[in-house]
Parts: sequence; C-alpha cells; structure tokens
Amino acid sequence: MQTIKTDILIFGGGIAGLWLLNRLRAAGYSVLLLEQERLGGHETLNANGIIHGGLKFGLSAMLRDIEALDDMPALWRACLAGTGDLDLSRVKVLSEHQYIWSEASLAARATTFFASRFMKGHVEAVEGEERPQPFRNEAFGGPVYRLSDLVIDMPSLIQSLLSEHKRCIYKVSTQNCHIETDDRHNTSAVFITAAGMEPIRIHPTSVILAGGQGNAALLEDLGLSEPAMERREVHMVMLKRAGLPSLYAHCLGASRNPRITITAHPTRDGECVWYLGGDLADEGAGRDERLQIEKAQRELKELLPWLDLRGARYKTLKISRILPAGDRGLLRPDNAFVQGIGNNILTWPCKLTLAPNLGRQVLDHLEKEGIKPVYEQPTDALPLLFPEIGQPIWETLFT
Ligand SMILES: Cc1cc2nc3c(=O)[nH]c(=O)nc-3n(C[C@H](O)[C@H](O)[C@H](O)COP(=O)(O)OP(=O)(O)OC[C@H]3O[C@@H](n4cnc5c(N)ncnc54)[C@H](O)[C@@H]3O)c2cc1C
Repeated sequence: MQTIKTDILIFGGGIAGLWLLNRLRAAGYSVLLLEQERLGGHETLNANGIIHGGLKFGLSAMLRDIEALDDMPALWRACLAGTGDLDLSRVKVLSEHQYIWSEASLAARATTFFASRFMKGHVEAVEGEERPQPFRNEAFGGPVYRLSDLVIDMPSLIQSLLSEHKRCIYKVSTQNCHIETDDRHNTSAVFITAAGMEPIRIHPTSVILAGGQGNAALLEDLGLSEPAMERREVHMVMLKRAGLPSLYAHCLGASRNPRITITAHPTRDGECVWYLGGDLADEGAGRDERLQIEKAQRELKELLPWLDLRGARYKTLKISRILPAGDRGLLRPDNAFVQGIGNNILTWPCKLTLAPNLGRQVLDHLEKEGIKPVYEQPTDALPLLFPEIGQPIWETLFT
C-alpha cells in the first residue's frame, strides 16, 4: 500500500475547494484535492457569477443585509488585479457593473431609496450612453442605477484556480474512497482503492469538507448528522437567441429579492445566453418547465416590453442552493460557514462572493489550532486520473 502524508486533504472541486487549494498552497501547506465528478462543482459553474456588494435586494430589504457584503467586491477586484489574496488576473470579467431598474410603479420609491446610498459610492444613476443598450430605448422612461458589483466568467475562474495545481488534484469516486475516523470524529486516514491499482492510504493533518451538497454524505462518513444543511431549490431560466444584447441587471420589485435578475453569458458557439434568476427562480421552484418558461416570457414582456425576443429558445434548470440549516439559512448569510470538527473543517461558502471570506476564515482556524505546514508537497503523481473540467449547463442544453 502506498502511504502519503499531507498537511491538508480537501474533498470537493467547486469554488470552495479550489479557492482553499490556492490559498493553502500559497501559505506553504501541502494539499491534495479529491473530486468525485467534474471540477467546477455543481453550483459553482451554474452560478450567475455576480460578486454581490449586498445591494441587489429589493426595496424592503433590511439595511443590515445591505451593509454585510460591502467588502467583497473590493477583495475580488484586488484578486482580479493580481494584488489580492489570490492572483486572478487571467479571469475574464463579464461586466464591471450590475445595473438596477424597477417596475414602473416603484420608480419613485427606488429613487428615494437610492438617494440615501449615493453618498457611500455604492450606486449611481446613469443616463444616455452610460446605460446598457436595452435601457437606451425611447420606450423606457424610468431611472437606471449602476452598482459596483462585478460579474465574472465562471469557466475562466475555474481554469485560473486549477492552472497551477493540476498535480494536487485527483478524481476519486465515493465508492473507491473510505474515510477512517476515531471515536472523536477525527479523520485518521483516507483509503483509496480501485481494481487494478495499488491501494493508497492518505494521512492528512487536517481534512476540509468542501463538497457542497456532498458534505452531508461526508459528514455521515465521519459518523455525524450535524451541522445540517438546507437545500433551497431554485428554477433558473435560460434563453438563447442570436444578437441578444449583453445585460447584467436586477429589476427591483416590492419584495426583498429582485423580481428578476439577468446575466448574459457568451457561449462557445459565439452566441449568448441570458440566465434568469431572482424571484422568478425562487418562486418558480414548484413550477414545471413549461409553466416556468411561460412565466419568464410574461415577466420579460412586462418588464422589457420593447425588446425583440422573437425566436428565442428557452430552457430551465432546477438546482439547489446549499446553505447551513437553521437561523443562518433563514437569514441572508454574510459570512461563509466554517466549523472545525476534530481535525476536519466543514465549509459552505453560501455564496461564490464569499470565497475570500472562506479562505481567510480557514487560514485563521488553522492558525488558531496551531496547524503549521509540515509535509512536502508530493512530487510524484498518484496513480489516479485528473478529473474532467465541467461546463455551465447552457453549453450543453441548447445543442
Ligand atoms: C443558480 C445559482 C446561481 C448562483 N449565483 C450566484 C451568484 O451570482 N453569486 C454568488 O455569490 N453566488 C451564487 N450562487 C451560490 C454559489 O454558486 C455557491 O454558494 C457556490 O458555488 C458553492 O460552491 P461549493 O464549492 O460549496 O459547491 P459546488 O460548486 O457544488 O462544488 C462542490 C463539489 O464537491 C464535489 N464533491 C461532493 N462530494 C464529494 C466527495 N465526497 N468527494 C469528492 N468530491 C465531492 C462535487 O462533485 C462538486 O464538484 C448561485 C447558486 C446557484 C445554484
């Protein structure tokens, strides 16, 4: 049996696992990352890619929520400039800003609401050519606001996060992986066995559970059912049409959430897909695909009536957002979830936006526990495959 000692073993190759892999390698730890399916995760590659500053919420949002995420866009911008926690200078930014417009009946309230935010430099009203193309139409009479939130291209983020660390990442199916624990839920060893290969035993100092929805099964392997997670189902809508304008915007409705959120994603065939979320997706969780598409069409007709969407093709995606259960799940999380359990660290980023916060919390935890880099990064590759890299759902659904 081949035996390997490593400072850190990470389960999961979504944003949580890949971000931590980069942060921990940079801090000098030896790290191995195991992914059971495809790199890029389940939620991560299907995210809108918005780095929220907290201002997307509706007019009834509580100010406390709005303040909470204020730091995140600045931390990401530093990474994108190559001067932050990580060097993300090769990541493609889809939009430097997210825009807000409102239903006509709420325009006056929106103006008053945003007036109070101007002083802080979070949001500004934009006119004429500064507006995204769909709001330059004469038929649109309301105000448009620009947020400092940026939108990033998820495939390029994933590529960037794994580019330097391909020799630390391996594909291991759950059937071939056995976690050995002691009676205090510490992971003493992880065994990887498969037909035709010499078994591998990994002795990690610390284990990071970064499996998103897969963390429930990993916790079970440790003999735990807590902390529980919450799955919040959403029903996203995609529409594809030649010549679709680029748009990154939220329409404010009367509720806490945007009535609709639109992000535009260039596809590999040179076209563009609009990915629709917000209340449309939250409230549509119980609708079937046909009803959800009809609802999206009605919303677009009412909110952007001058746009020509004839011939657009529509698809939907039902997907769960994973959050820690309990009070934290009910409120909008303003911090990533990080909890030490023996020598394991359970993580849920709660939002892509919170990846920098996740990285900082995990490093703080290791420091607090006195866990320092000890082992060399193995130089010889393990006899395991590198996982396939995933792609956003819209790349496959429209073919
Ligand atoms: C539709 C949608 C839109 C979103 N939009 C945004 C947004 O615009 N901005 C924002 O900030 N947040 C957004 N989010 C939230 C954000 O995407 C998630 O919080 C984040 O991507 C979760 O990352 P993760 O790494 O924890 O999980 P995932 O991306 O799901 O990755 C988990 C990975 O772990 C692997 N895994 C699981 N179990 C095991 C195991 N036992 N062994 C090995 N590997 C394992 C899985 O195969 C998977 O690859 C959105 C979420 C959804 C669903």
